[in-house]
Amino acid sequence: VREYVKDYMRQNGLLTLSILAVITGCVLGFMLRGLDLSTQAKIYFSFPGELLMRILKMLILPLITSSLMSGLSSMESKACCRMGVLTVTYYLWTTFIAVIVGIVLVLIIKPGYGTHLESSRLGGGQVITSADALLDLVRNMIPSNLIEATFQQYKTDIIPIIKTQVNTGRPNFVYLMPDEDHPKGRTVQLELTPPPDIEYKNRPGNSQQMNVLGIVIFSATMGLLLGKMGKRGAPLVNVCQCINECVMKIINAAVWYFPFGIIFLVAGKILDMSDPSTLGKKLGWYGMTVMAGLFVHGLILLPFFYFILTWKNPFTFIRGLLQAMVIALATSSSSATLPITMKCLLENCRVDRQIARFVLPVGATINMDGTALYEAVAAIFIAQVNEYELDFGQLVTISITATAASIGAAGIPQAGLVTMVIVLTSVGLPPDDITLIVAIDWILDRFRTMINVLGDALAAGIIGHLCQKDFPPDRAAKANGAAQDS
Ligand code: ASP
Repeated sequence: VREYVKDYMRQNGLLTLSILAVITGCVLGFMLRGLDLSTQAKIYFSFPGELLMRILKMLILPLITSSLMSGLSSMESKACCRMGVLTVTYYLWTTFIAVIVGIVLVLIIKPGYGTHLESSRLGGGQVITSADALLDLVRNMIPSNLIEATFQQYKTDIIPIIKTQVNTGRPNFVYLMPDEDHPKGRTVQLELTPPPDIEYKNRPGNSQQMNVLGIVIFSATMGLLLGKMGKRGAPLVNVCQCINECVMKIINAAVWYFPFGIIFLVAGKILDMSDPSTLGKKLGWYGMTVMAGLFVHGLILLPFFYFILTWKNPFTFIRGLLQAMVIALATSSSSATLPITMKCLLENCRVDRQIARFVLPVGATINMDGTALYEAVAAIFIAQVNEYELDFGQLVTISITATAASIGAAGIPQAGLVTMVIVLTSVGLPPDDITLIVAIDWILDRFRTMINVLGDALAAGIIGHLCQKDFPPDRAAKANGAAQDS
């Protein structure tokens, strides 16, 4: 038995500890909720979790830049192009399918019907168009200042606010929680100077956002150009390779801290959560609709696509990703999970290193199947709550804007909630009604982040298979060997 336990722990120890940590965090969080801890006490309590987030975020920048620059430099431009086109096509396709799954389910389950809210709620709020979102996305692709792109744009966070903002370019929209003057909450556009009536406070541990998309585009371009430079570019490629190996070593060491951090991260979130809104039971049905959609998309459709495109067992692949999915569940951030997803792909799923280095960072920024599905369900739920009949054209608009909004959402906690303003305004629904679903968003966010991460990783497996002939097996084996060494 001892041998068996030892063997099991060697293979699955970290994963088991992480799952136990999530459960312990939930139990601890609910037990301490009764004690009504002070804000200060909650901050101290959440500290180990905050450290975990900081470690993960610290690794994102060196991981993305070194991976893309060294990875793409050794690829031929034709292979690179093919991989790029396949990746983006696959991402768009699966995101759109996710939206359709969400729309079908919410139309069948009808979670929002039978709720009577006061009338004349429609048409209010600030109008944010999909064109704004698209411009914002393109702005982020071309950061005007690279150094600034690596920073959080605001040194402080807003309280009370959903701790997130849409991308880092302008315009930036944030959703503010209800206060005395604005009982329904409100959406405001933040210019570089914050509106004077918003209270800013320092608060450790809040989400910090860098312009990952801009950094991905810049590093990928640099990687391609370095490859073309041949010998002259080699020193910089070597530096990138060294940085990449060091980052992977840090990840390998840091993962042993994660179970401990997860306990406090999860418990801290539960301590902070607000009580459900008046919608009560309806909200429960809405949550179940989102979860059902995530389940169908993540555990039936995506594995099915993987199977028909590769003829391999998708669940063996998913098994190798469990560690990353637990981290996604604990952190609600696909960007923060990126280092662990990379580790799982290279070590457990044996995906070609060069493919993973490109497909994953791009996926973490633009491919969010879970978010797209959730945005479509939430928008239609809000329409149902308002007894607002959506015609076919509006459903098409929702499917397109939800896809666009998910692409525009950053891989940080609850980013999808904010970009949903785009979906709501596109069909004339009041953006303020985001308040209706806010109470359970933190939990849905965790599950949709898991599906976002799963989608990126399965994509890497599929693209790896489809581009096999561009990467001869010996090269792939060598690449994986290097990953093992590191
Ligand atoms: N938290 C999600 C992610 O990081 C984004 C969202 O849906 O809010 O992937």
